Amino acid sequence: NHGGQHVSARPAVSAERVTKRFGQGTADVRALDEVSVSVARGEFFTLLGPSGCGKTTLLRCIAGFETPSAGRIHLNGKDITDEPPNRRRVNTVFQSYALFPHLTVAQNVAFGLEMMGKPRAEVSRTVDRMLALVRLDQLAARRPEALSGGQQQRVALARALAPQPEVLLLDEPLSALDLKLRKEMQSELKRLQHETGITFVFVTHDQEEALTMSDRIGVMSTGRLLQVGPPREIYNRPVNRFVADFIGETNFIPAMAQGGQVRLASGEVVGESAQAGPVTVAIRPEQIRLSEPGEVGGIPATVEGATYLGTDSHIHLRLKDGSPVVARVPSLPSAEPGPAPGSSVGLRVAPGAVQVLED
Ligand code: ATP
Repeated sequence: NHGGQHVSARPAVSAERVTKRFGQGTADVRALDEVSVSVARGEFFTLLGPSGCGKTTLLRCIAGFETPSAGRIHLNGKDITDEPPNRRRVNTVFQSYALFPHLTVAQNVAFGLEMMGKPRAEVSRTVDRMLALVRLDQLAARRPEALSGGQQQRVALARALAPQPEVLLLDEPLSALDLKLRKEMQSELKRLQHETGITFVFVTHDQEEALTMSDRIGVMSTGRLLQVGPPREIYNRPVNRFVADFIGETNFIPAMAQGGQVRLASGEVVGESAQAGPVTVAIRPEQIRLSEPGEVGGIPATVEGATYLGTDSHIHLRLKDGSPVVARVPSLPSAEPGPAPGSSVGLRVAPGAVQVLED
């Protein structure tokens, strides 16, 4: 640090080369494989990946329910790897809510505070504040069984936020809710995070949820963290085929890199690459424009059919080399989607929309 002007913000939580193995010998499962990540204070950070990729295990290591086989966990600059869960200022909201059925809403929220030995008046003040925060002040005396799924989720959130953790871990908290309620709770979670300023580490396997809610996303696969970045970067600049495939829809087209240029099998130059040899070109369906009738040029393709999606339509196409390609175009209210099956069209893609991936 030269001159002390620039002091980097200390991350709220960080993992350094965390590995977690389950079982022994040949049955050994590497649930986490040298995962390193830093989450900034007040950040909404999402771990995204398919079932079994290690998301929950990483959360459990942060919470202290699991001990890493190797690597360290820091909370607010302090090494907490060997601290028990109750000594960490970390709380978890689970998918199952795990509310106490015999306690009222207010008692559920008060529970953790009472365990911490907080004075009665403070507990009562905090419970009131938390119930107002999640908009359940009218339901304080109810039991969980008399609440809807969304309301139970709010109680679980209020309970987890009440002791003012430095980091709130959320393990697929919305997956038990129907689509409409889930959307509602998504904006509710964003509001809660904004109002409390608490760092959120959120786990989901739903890519749309991750893209809409997060400041940054960490994409995981088989125990490894493949890419960390803001939603736009993850979507537009996936580091490899797995990330491009897992997030959104992507066309993968085989191509050849030579002399700095990337060519499709049919000969068109679609991008640049320093590599040489076979590569894969990734293009998002919404980045492909179909030529208007009479317009010349573009990558030649044959229309095979269309799928109406509502606001948009998918046009199914085939390139000369046989590669299938899907283009996503806006639907017109009174027309069939896209050109007729069997017709020839030209495809246009902005150079910036073409990703060249190593094979
Ligand atoms: P999901 O979205 O299905 O919850 P996940 O990404 O959270 O999946 P983890 O639950 O972290 O994945 O599991 C990662 C891997 O570790 C899986 O292969 C899982 O079977 C294994 N695993 C997790 N916990 C244990 C355990 N206690 N004993 C043995 N293996 C385990």
